[in-house]
Amino acid sequence: IMEHQLRQRILQEMLWNQANRDALTTLPNRRSIIKSLERHSMSCAQRGQPLGVLMIDLDYFKQINDQFGHDGGDSVLREVAERMKTSIRTTDVVGRFGGEEFMAVIPNCAGEELLRIAERIRATINSAPVSADAQLIPVSSSIGVAVRWGASDGEVSDTLQSADRALYVAKEMGRNRVVSAWSLHDRIQRAV
Ligand code: GH3
Ligand code: MG
Ligand code: MG
Repeated sequence: IMEHQLRQRILQEMLWNQANRDALTTLPNRRSIIKSLERHSMSCAQRGQPLGVLMIDLDYFKQINDQFGHDGGDSVLREVAERMKTSIRTTDVVGRFGGEEFMAVIPNCAGEELLRIAERIRATINSAPVSADAQLIPVSSSIGVAVRWGASDGEVSDTLQSADRALYVAKEMGRNRVVSAWSLHDRIQRAV
């Protein structure tokens, strides 16, 4: 009977992992990280706390695949996942949003503190080349940062869009950098 229960539990865990984890990196998958975002969005709003959101996209990843092969690219994705895990707080969640794009959910964090976390993640990803099959693969990322201050900020998808716009500017400015959504806002206001 014990053996049966154990087998049931292992099976349940396998099914849960299949539904919620990304197979390559073992990070939360897209579905799961979006659920975390929505859950934290509600709890932060209830507590009157801000919620930080980071969109993290690896730079020139197509080139990495071209130069080091798909397996090389996969090794980079796995190593980047490990590096990100070491550079977030225990209350934060990072997941694979898709392809070579990741999302971090940073509860009760905004402004300079949030930028510091984003910068730490960027620096950790870029700290050393990834070694795979006796090759050294350089890796960097661009990060778009946005904050959600509660329901008055609209839908959760609006916050993602803000982070995405900041990410786009980070790419345009030359990659391997952090750009905040509020700096774009300031820039537009200065231009007016
Ligand atoms: P940018 O600096 O502008 O972000 O350029 P990029 O090359 O990183 O972006 P682009 O969207 O052009 O290419 C992303 C590439 O990521 C294309 C796709 O083949 C690759 N990719 C997506 N998922 C995986 C995966 O699971 N494994 C590997 N090896 N490559 C992947
Ligand atoms: Mg990319
Ligand atoms: Mg991308």
